[in-house]
Amino acid sequence: MERIKTRLRHLVKPRPNTDAMAEILDLIAPPLYVYTISYVVYFGYAYLIDYHYGNSKPEDTTAPLPRIWYFQKCFSLLIYIQMMANWIGIRFVNTSTNQNFTEGVRDRMKWNIDPILESNGFQKDKLKAETSENGTVNRKKSNTKLSEEAIETSKPIIKKQTYWSWKPCFYCRLNAPPRCHHCSFCETCILKRDHHCFFAGRCIGFHNQRHFVVFLMWASFGTTYAMIHFVPYLYNIVLLEITGWDCFLPVAMYKLVTGQLSLYYANLVISFTLNLFFIFLSTAFLLEQFQLISEGITQFEQTKVDKRKLHILDPRPFGPKVKAVLGSQPLFTIVFPLAHWFYLPCDDPFMWPYHKITHTKIKTK
Ligand SMILES: [Zn+2]
Ligand SMILES: [Zn+2]
Repeated sequence: MERIKTRLRHLVKPRPNTDAMAEILDLIAPPLYVYTISYVVYFGYAYLIDYHYGNSKPEDTTAPLPRIWYFQKCFSLLIYIQMMANWIGIRFVNTSTNQNFTEGVRDRMKWNIDPILESNGFQKDKLKAETSENGTVNRKKSNTKLSEEAIETSKPIIKKQTYWSWKPCFYCRLNAPPRCHHCSFCETCILKRDHHCFFAGRCIGFHNQRHFVVFLMWASFGTTYAMIHFVPYLYNIVLLEITGWDCFLPVAMYKLVTGQLSLYYANLVISFTLNLFFIFLSTAFLLEQFQLISEGITQFEQTKVDKRKLHILDPRPFGPKVKAVLGSQPLFTIVFPLAHWFYLPCDDPFMWPYHKITHTKIKTK
């Protein structure tokens, strides 16, 4: 209950570095995904497989089911398991800085901002006072978070540092490695942060990017597979009952509200539209991920880093770049989501030994 209240409060007062639209998306995207996947399973896999491949004489219950029916049922179950398992992987595999790292890493991540703050004229006493004041408001989080004012004051200090360096996170109070960024939705720092995935409600980072890529492969394939079953059914059965215009979402919604279309057909149209949307979305994201992996960069670096100031190069061939994301056995990872436990991504999320970074100074008049 408290969680729901907090989420609703965020709609009125968005968290730092976000806006109301993003907060709304963060709230509605996961249920939208669950709705779409339920539809894909119910219509695309269960109902329509019976329609397309089931017994040609439904009245004869003793007739054996064709072999293709069994094959399609098993195949669709595999797609469903893959999509759900990798979605769970995205959501629950920890890619944040709240993990048990080795002692060396833990030491480097220790909050060591005081010298930087002092050299920028920031008063340590003020910092402490603000922290304890926060502590009286929220005792649980005392000494872990700084006040908004302190964070705002510190932002220019962080901006002065180069992108590819260890940087302090004022929200988590730790020293974060290169490519690690704070996410306001996840409320933690994410190793090799790619982007925040609204449909899973989690950030994509070093440890779960593999699940994201594999999920996209199966989602792109699975939604197309469901659509292949859906279109003939729509054409042969549904269009006998409703008109072609009713298949457009706004028309269907209008007719549902005015009582001219039944809930069953309205649900079909919503599901069909969402499925179409997810085909484009998952395929576009998949192609983007391929491009990012082949360049050895993250979505964050592609969109937020000024390429005139910083050039990031991963000189490794394509194979090792794939292994840096999918683990040492990429094919195994694609088929078995649990490969996560056995084959780690072949890269170092703290030191990044392979990347070559060039800082370019722009000449200004
Ligand atoms: Zn942080
Ligand atoms: Zn996030």
